[in-house]
Amino acid sequence: MPRDPRYDILFEPVRIGPVTAGNRFYQVPHCTGLGWLRPRMLAGLRGIKAEGGWGVVCTEYCSIHPASDDLPFPYASLWDETDIKAQALMTEKVHAHGALAGVELWFGGARNTNLFTREVPLSVDSVPNHAGNPYQTRAMDKADIRRLRKWHREAALRAKTAGFDIVYVYATHGYLLSHFLSPRFNTRSDEYGGSLENRVRLVRELIEETKEAVGDRCAVAVRFAADEAIGEDGVPRLGERREMFEMLAELPDLWDVNIADYSYEMGVSRFVKEAALEPYMAFVKSVTSKPVVTVGRFTSPDTMASQVKRGIVDFIGAARPSIAEPFLPKKIEEGRLEDIRECIGCNICYSGDGQSVPIRCTQNPTVNEEWRRGWHPERIDPRGSEAKVLVVGAGPAGLEAARALGQRGYEVVLAEAGRELGGRVTLESRLPGLGEWARVRDYRVQQIGRMANVEVYRESELDAEEVLAVGADHVVIATGAAWRRDGFGRYHPAGLAGLGPVERIFTPDDIMAGRLPQGRVVIFDDDHYYMGPVMAERLRAEGLPVSLVTPEDKAGAWSAYTAEQVRSQRRLLELGVEIVTAHGLSAFDGREAVLACAYTGRETTVPAEALVMVTARRPNDGLHRALAARVAAGAEGAPRSLRRIGDCEAPAIIAAAVYAGHRYARELDVPAQDHARVPQDRVFDATP
Ligand code: ADP
Ligand code: SF4
Repeated sequence: MPRDPRYDILFEPVRIGPVTAGNRFYQVPHCTGLGWLRPRMLAGLRGIKAEGGWGVVCTEYCSIHPASDDLPFPYASLWDETDIKAQALMTEKVHAHGALAGVELWFGGARNTNLFTREVPLSVDSVPNHAGNPYQTRAMDKADIRRLRKWHREAALRAKTAGFDIVYVYATHGYLLSHFLSPRFNTRSDEYGGSLENRVRLVRELIEETKEAVGDRCAVAVRFAADEAIGEDGVPRLGERREMFEMLAELPDLWDVNIADYSYEMGVSRFVKEAALEPYMAFVKSVTSKPVVTVGRFTSPDTMASQVKRGIVDFIGAARPSIAEPFLPKKIEEGRLEDIRECIGCNICYSGDGQSVPIRCTQNPTVNEEWRRGWHPERIDPRGSEAKVLVVGAGPAGLEAARALGQRGYEVVLAEAGRELGGRVTLESRLPGLGEWARVRDYRVQQIGRMANVEVYRESELDAEEVLAVGADHVVIATGAAWRRDGFGRYHPAGLAGLGPVERIFTPDDIMAGRLPQGRVVIFDDDHYYMGPVMAERLRAEGLPVSLVTPEDKAGAWSAYTAEQVRSQRRLLELGVEIVTAHGLSAFDGREAVLACAYTGRETTVPAEALVMVTARRPNDGLHRALAARVAAGAEGAPRSLRRIGDCEAPAIIAAAVYAGHRYARELDVPAQDHARVPQDRVFDATP
């Protein structure tokens, strides 16, 4: 299909100082959990985006000097010759597809502890470390500022040697330069503090010096926050930001604009929807003639075209949408909108960075496996035999297995017990705020629907005999898992005996199926991700009094990794949910629950007419066990291979189920020794 002319505007080239982007699709700097540690994986990931049509592809935050070290969080670096070589792996791959490569030069300031390099961290003043470590920075004196400018200049020159086309001055996100700009953080009394002009001085100098150093061939971009303070969502509190912006407006070649509240800028879809930054951007283009980019978890080409046509931005910035769908621009260009794998806004990608591991994506199981496993998000090897494959269960694992097997050309039968496809994503997408999660199902059902070689049977709950009767060569079981009612979990490793009347004990599965409690509810959340808080929200919507009890010190503690925890806890408090932290459940009798302090063991009793257990899940592996026994006994019709994947093998996040389905499909008919041989990207620096 030719591209829809409505989207032509997205494919116009745009000049950025001395360079020109081929279109308006701009992958803004984003973390990958790789940094300087894994340059080949990184080059693989960025190269795929250029292949997918992004006009600009940027690095993550890239340290200019060992005095800016963020380990354990993996950052990129441009400290020396070795780094130039490593970064050149990326720029070559990006250039091979005609895209521009951008580098986000970075100096962390008060966020850095420099635990790896053991350099003394530097900031505007001697302030406590912002990552919470028991360290303070040295207040930068004039000589430090001169050194910083020199380091930045030298890093810019190395960036040019490494082949970058766009070099950033990074003045947001709580790092050093944002503290120089800030009236709150900048307590200096010299010419770099006090008046607005003084606070802007360092950023101005860096822009000018970067231009002077590399501006003949590289564009200079500035990352800048449009608002001064975090306020109500969608209502900018600009403070002096506009005036500050006016002072710098024409200096760089490009403005990459974001906002003060990071949990809104990259909010989970539970709280923040597409194009949420628009109100903050209202003044930006009226003040500068330079091109402007911002983000907004853009997945709809209509929204993108509208942003450009209405003069909000010149470039469509994306981090997450480019992770979930590296081929987003190509698919719009080729008129293949139905093939777009839309980001669901779960922020599992972001959790990788916080956990210092390569990022993973719920929608795109190939991300970060481009180099290591040779996985391409669009291409897959043709089938290795004429085999027929039966997939049992159409949750995220089964759907992805069927889709990818179908793409390989296998004859696939997908059997699902229920009338609806999607398994847990269909059920969970009906919970408050989780509507976009249905995209995990919709993309796959849409793709499968066009494959003549994939047959889907709904309302087909198969038992072992029925599976054998299908006569498939390979059988893969993806029957999911069920939430446990018995308290079994981290807090009670063997479950909790003697719990009250069973009809008053509920699980998330009951609530998703419409079986709701009555009266005062205690939710025991020993899971610590979104399900406990979302259950509380769901039951408050029924008007029930709800207490959420957790052995952790925060509600949904793990969701801090998805930039969700603060918003989640705030939401519960606003809804009137009582949050009881640092307590476990000891007993429940249908009238009361006994709670024990996680530190002292001291017990308290609270009224509770119903209990919701969010603790652990039990794999639905009965079918797999029954089949394994038949296969072992050499039953007639037994398949050549039998596997289980996803939650029925080991319950986990949705991203793990999608990955399991994808991996199963990739590895079918591939000799085991081949797929076991996965190269690992480890840096080896041979410099003496
Ligand atoms: P996962 O996250 O691993 O994909 P889900 O729980 O989301 O797991 O999906 C499991 C799916 O399997 C559900 O849609 C469920 O209805 C289906 N299912 C469970 N048992 C059977 C069975 N015996 N035959 C067919 N489908 C089944
Ligand atoms: Fe989007 Fe979730 Fe993938 Fe991140 S992990 S890109 S938020 S779908």
